[in-house]
Amino acid sequence: MVNGGYTGKILRVDLTKGDFKVESLPTEWVLKYIGGDGFAARLLYDEVPARTDPLSPENKLLIATGPITGTLWPMSGRTVFVSKAAQTGIWGESHVGGFLGPELKYAGYDMLVVEGRSENPVHISIHDGDLELIDATPHWGMRTDEVTAAMRKHHNDPDVQVGAIGPAGEQLVRFASVIVNNARAAGRTGMGAVLGSKNVKTISIRGHGSVEVAEHEEFFKLAKKAHQKVRQNPQAREMGKWGTWILTAVKQEIGELPTFNHRTGVFSGWESLSGEYIRPRFTVSDRACFGCSLGCKKMNYIPDGPYAGTLEEGPEYEGLMAFGSLLGIDDYPTTLKANQICNKYGMDIISVGSTIAFAMECYENGIIDDSDTGGVPLEWGNTESAIKILQMIASREGFGDILAEGSKIASEKIGKGSEAYAIHVKGLEVSGQDGRTHRSIGLSHATSARGADHLRSLVVVDQLGYEKVAAERWGVDKLPEILNPYTEQYKATAVVETENTYCIRDTLIVCWYSVSWPPVFWMSDFAEMLPLATGIDAFGDVTTLVEIGERQLNLKRLFNAREGITRKDDQLPKRFTHEPMPEGPGKGQVVDLESLLDDYYRLRGWDPETGLPTKETLRRLSLE
Ligand code: SF4
Repeated sequence: MVNGGYTGKILRVDLTKGDFKVESLPTEWVLKYIGGDGFAARLLYDEVPARTDPLSPENKLLIATGPITGTLWPMSGRTVFVSKAAQTGIWGESHVGGFLGPELKYAGYDMLVVEGRSENPVHISIHDGDLELIDATPHWGMRTDEVTAAMRKHHNDPDVQVGAIGPAGEQLVRFASVIVNNARAAGRTGMGAVLGSKNVKTISIRGHGSVEVAEHEEFFKLAKKAHQKVRQNPQAREMGKWGTWILTAVKQEIGELPTFNHRTGVFSGWESLSGEYIRPRFTVSDRACFGCSLGCKKMNYIPDGPYAGTLEEGPEYEGLMAFGSLLGIDDYPTTLKANQICNKYGMDIISVGSTIAFAMECYENGIIDDSDTGGVPLEWGNTESAIKILQMIASREGFGDILAEGSKIASEKIGKGSEAYAIHVKGLEVSGQDGRTHRSIGLSHATSARGADHLRSLVVVDQLGYEKVAAERWGVDKLPEILNPYTEQYKATAVVETENTYCIRDTLIVCWYSVSWPPVFWMSDFAEMLPLATGIDAFGDVTTLVEIGERQLNLKRLFNAREGITRKDDQLPKRFTHEPMPEGPGKGQVVDLESLLDDYYRLRGWDPETGLPTKETLRRLSLE
């Protein structure tokens, strides 16, 4: 029945015992979850019990792929890191591009499970069937670029794919990331801290096998057409040219460019953070992940000024926002320097930027002063201070030690009303959106499994080409309301439907930018392709795919429910629900979250009081 797409094997490394084990991938998992996030949700739910300390040996970290990872399907080179999150203590996941996922498949595995804790620092080395734990003591303390080079030298192979933690991961900075091949970050929720707690410095992978699909010729023809579809999509082409920098102007226009710790959604210095400004002055080359014909990644160089000589990828829109407008900084070179520090030391730029913004607002309001910060004046727009405190966080030096806990825990430690300035949901800092001027993302931030999440649904930004998809999905009569970012009407409907599609996106795993924005592929495209890849006819039915997507989403909800998450936790910071947007096109707007939640729970089949799946919903999704 399953005759393509999968290797059929899961690789486990038990760090406590120091051994590897290869297991068969259960066919039941394939049929119920397809792959990627779905496999990871099932394994984490089954094997990491409630109340497990995320930084204990009992937690597990998974790297999962999907059935088309490493095939010719466009933008299918991504992979996902999953664990109980170091930052939030609930479901954690972080998707990353590059070449790591395909390499894992070529080495012969659909998923890697890292469990236990090594007594001493180690590298996990996977070269086809050669599995090895290598002493990493000489490399402990190295930056991610240094250790990546060291591992490639060790293996005498420049094509080894390396996921590394930097000093921040070793120091258990809560939002430490895993950096793949120097520049791609499995950024959010603290995967680097989980690896650090297990004493793992790198995971390096090299494979020489291939991924067989079920219907080779038909799959090849369809994949070729799919590449053409990507290349012919005008918005995709724009994305290839500008990357996510295109968003800066869009966000400014609708009043959703988070500025001064989300106080407002318009920024007077936005033009210096826009693609039109950055590309001609600083971009030296375009880069792409495995199998991508867009190449949205940009390599940039700073020719002069205090950061002269900085050569680095990015930052993407989220980094421009987090280390730019959010801190009142209108200087692109500072954001590139910050991104370089985040990559080399291994930190999530969204969370670290937001945590610094939190500290700046505390400083402005006299909650902290120079005696707390070690003499660093945390003023809005002060580029030197922002870079200095970033370095202090990476090494947990002085006040950086408190901020390394993230804004939620830092505010609990600081007290004195600072909680009002910690802009997070369930412990994860809010990314570059604002529910006041983009209601559907407000709902998504409040309900997503990993906390304030910008990747689980994105609808209603009419500039981004959703008109066609929205009209097909929900009918032209609802279109004006659905595409109006300032109303609650129909937003739960739109969020539920896009979430279900994005769940399939994240089981496959394909790049966000082929499904979410611009929406080049939708569920019907996957229903046409998946039977050719896997030989499983059931995947050709859109209704079946929707159910599989729902099953994954509900299983993550159940994982969080065991940690005590209910409706009371599906909240937004008061800034979004009680402080009207002070200026811009959305002036006066706040989020009516409770009405959004009522609609959302009803559509999801979740209890309106608790926000948990009802027994009937669990039965319908075979999750009893
Ligand atoms: S669009 Fe960008 S992130 Fe997506 S696969 Fe291509 S290069 Fe990677």
